[in-house]
Amino acid sequence: MSFIESEERRALRKAVGELGKKYGYAWFNQQARTGGHTTELWLEAGKLGYLGVNLPEQYGGGGGGIADLSIVLEELGAAGCPLLMMVVSPSICGTVIARFGTDEQKQRWLPGLADGTTIMAFAITEPDAGSNSHEITTTARRTEDGWSLTGRKVFISGLDVAEAVLVVGRTEDARTGKLKPALFVVPVDAPGVEFTRIEMDLISPDKQFALFLDDVRLPREALVGSEDAALLQLFAGLNPERIMASAFAIGIARHALGKATAYVKDRQVWKTPIGAHQGLAHPLAQIKIELELARLMLQKAAALYDAGDDLAAGEAANMAKYAAGEVAVRATDQAVQSLGGNGMTTEYGVASLVAAARATRIAPVSREMILNFVAQHSLGLPKSY
Ligand SMILES: Cc1cc2nc3c(=O)[nH]c(=O)nc-3n(C[C@H](O)[C@H](O)[C@H](O)COP(=O)(O)OP(=O)(O)OC[C@H]3O[C@@H](n4cnc5c(N)ncnc54)[C@H](O)[C@@H]3O)c2cc1C
Repeated sequence: MSFIESEERRALRKAVGELGKKYGYAWFNQQARTGGHTTELWLEAGKLGYLGVNLPEQYGGGGGGIADLSIVLEELGAAGCPLLMMVVSPSICGTVIARFGTDEQKQRWLPGLADGTTIMAFAITEPDAGSNSHEITTTARRTEDGWSLTGRKVFISGLDVAEAVLVVGRTEDARTGKLKPALFVVPVDAPGVEFTRIEMDLISPDKQFALFLDDVRLPREALVGSEDAALLQLFAGLNPERIMASAFAIGIARHALGKATAYVKDRQVWKTPIGAHQGLAHPLAQIKIELELARLMLQKAAALYDAGDDLAAGEAANMAKYAAGEVAVRATDQAVQSLGGNGMTTEYGVASLVAAARATRIAPVSREMILNFVAQHSLGLPKSY
């Protein structure tokens, strides 16, 4: 790992940043407020090779790693277009299929995930299990020619734009006890699949849904990887998710900080721009430092993951997600404060970032569960729950 980003990655940042600016927050916010989607940007990013930058070249990807994909999401977010489905479709789903799928599954799904013409959602959260994924009850029963899947999921992002959803369940013979997750690709239009929108107080073009799976009949090849691969296979997808969630949060934080900085340089109510007052300058400087620290942790997590060290990447990805979520919350709040009344207007588009930033403290893994992880695994403290 080098602290100096390669020329190739700097060029990627620049090119993606330019694409993001072409659309910008005004467009993104308009899509969110009118029930629109980000399809135009998504497909353009896919066509340019940005969405599949981490996927194998042989299946239409760029042959890079999660470090490259995180650059794409961070830069789009910094330009005002944080594409939530990037945390899911090319990262969790693309990675899991690329690492554990059969040749047929790779051929079937990866080219579309890479060029953006296919979006795959991801479903692990259940109403009764919540943060305790060991308690999930979505169950796959063997049938003559495949599987029957039954269960319920909540807060699943992007089912309205997805062609399929990667569902985390358990097989019938591993119904109780420690989770042995089994992953299934489920087409969203399969008989027995229903989903309904959950109204969220989030201004975002990406929506969340409750998913109902009622005796959904799937072919044998819907199972990705081994049904006995246990948690390692699941974490091969969850670590990229955490790394990408960090990039999502850092992108939003950068966008908010950029807006706040530009405003306080210009706005004058005494004899100098308000940015000269340390009451405003110091919190913004502090956010800049915390942002750089969070990004360093993201880069470490991505470097470990791309080097194949899943275990060390797990700890680093948790820490990166913690740091990124915290700075996103602080950056958006301080941006609102810096703009005063304008911080609450639709025109300046700052208060509308607050809830999205707030969500990064909860999803995909909450701040408290990360602190539990670090307390137990990094510090060796006893488990309280
Ligand atoms: C915008 C958004 C998009 C999402 N998209 C998806 C998606 O696409 N797919 C998907 O599967 N899920 C998705 N989720 C769900 C998300 O991953 C969960 O909300 C999250 O994991 C927390 O689970 P929960 O909501 O059930 O909270 P709970 O588990 O009920 O937790 C509630 C609170 O209790 C705390 N808590 C729980 N247990 C402990 C403990 N042992 N110690 C200390 N504190 C504890 C938590 O930290 C949290 O603060 C999304 C959520 C949001 C908000």
